[in-house]
Amino acid sequence: PAAPPRPSARDAARELLVRRDDGVLAEVQEHYYSGAVEPPRVERGWRHHLATTDGRVLLDMLNNVTVAGHAHPRIAAAASRQLARLNTNSRFHYAGVVELSERLASLLPDPLDTVFLVNSGSEATDLAIRLATVATGRPDVVAVREAYHGWTFASDAVSTSVADNPAALETRPAWVHTVEAPNAYRGRYRAARGDDLGRYAADAVAAVDALAAAGHPPAGFIAEAFYGNAGGMPLPDGYLEAVYAAVRRHGGLAIADEVQVGYGRLGSTFWGFQQQGVVPDVVAVAKSVGNGHPVGAVITTREVAARYRDAGYFFASTGGSPVSCAVAMAVLDVLQGEQLQENARVVGARLKGALTSLAERHRLIGAVHGEGLYLGVELVRDRETLEPAREETAALCDRLLDLGVVMQPTSDRQNVLKVKPPLCVDEAAVDFFVAAVDRALSE
Ligand code: PMP
Repeated sequence: PAAPPRPSARDAARELLVRRDDGVLAEVQEHYYSGAVEPPRVERGWRHHLATTDGRVLLDMLNNVTVAGHAHPRIAAAASRQLARLNTNSRFHYAGVVELSERLASLLPDPLDTVFLVNSGSEATDLAIRLATVATGRPDVVAVREAYHGWTFASDAVSTSVADNPAALETRPAWVHTVEAPNAYRGRYRAARGDDLGRYAADAVAAVDALAAAGHPPAGFIAEAFYGNAGGMPLPDGYLEAVYAAVRRHGGLAIADEVQVGYGRLGSTFWGFQQQGVVPDVVAVAKSVGNGHPVGAVITTREVAARYRDAGYFFASTGGSPVSCAVAMAVLDVLQGEQLQENARVVGARLKGALTSLAERHRLIGAVHGEGLYLGVELVRDRETLEPAREETAALCDRLLDLGVVMQPTSDRQNVLKVKPPLCVDEAAVDFFVAAVDRALSE
């Protein structure tokens, strides 16, 4: 008899959680292996290592894009100490909120000094959008296509990560307007007009001006300073400066999604927007803030916060619990004490250099983008046509898992390896990773 069909990657992931005959117990994150391998069953982690239930040790090259690795003793101790003292706050003053807010604000340039603590990146970008729309009294928001900002109603609406779900475009709310993703490697302007990347900014500015001319000046413009869903693509020089200026000229706010790119990951700067020499009006952070523990924040100006309050809105959230505050403070202690930003710079440069060398020998590698520990390896079938090598990328991830590496292509393009390990990775780990990619590609 014919072999039973292989489960799809999604089904394979779900099988892990099916506990009853009539359906799935819980929704799990989709896995991007080809479907030919079972996602690893992990029971423990330390730093950038994972231990599976069947006794394997894997290198975690993703770690949910956070900073300090798994089970950092200092963070674990802070969390358990706090859990045993006071674990939630409501209707009373708790000093940890003030301490964490002061510390977050001190990491940002003036005039960003007012902090809202939330539980996740989606909540942070959602609140950032709400602050902009309430503060300006306008509904319209401009976003960059192919970005991911979260799963809540507003954060999902501005995420046009629709490669595998074009139907999402049909149901997108009318207040969302999108501009083309500025893509230095595969974009329209590269193909059609050489490297005239300034055209992306000009187009985005024209879109903002056109909305204003039509009587709908946008409340805000939301973007990552590095275009994360494409792997780790830097924006063209001057892009944010031009688009922020256009939005502000019409009275709107500049919103930076720093959920992935912030917190030292780029090595050379702590925040992504600093690469572009701009200061946003609203900044959304999460992921690294709690090193995976659910805590995030929106940092804005007193003026925007006052306009929000004056409009009669209040902010009430489970965000900023004593445990979240304790964890977030410990993460900052580790980040600064262990100089993880500097590690991202040094180890990231070594990693990018090694991956770039691999591209000389393996034609499947079309480009290596990014900076620090925010890299993308784009796989193409043909360097002229840039045809994406999606199946090959999934097969490569399968093989990397065999070789001991947990890795994932970007969710949107599916032919870019997201190389965003925790900032504590060392040279031995990245050398192991590069050797595994080299071997898998050779095979
Ligand atoms: N913004 C960006 C850039 C992200 O990458 C993510 C999560 N991948 C989010 C927002 C949403 O964060 P969360 O998953 O914590 O809700």
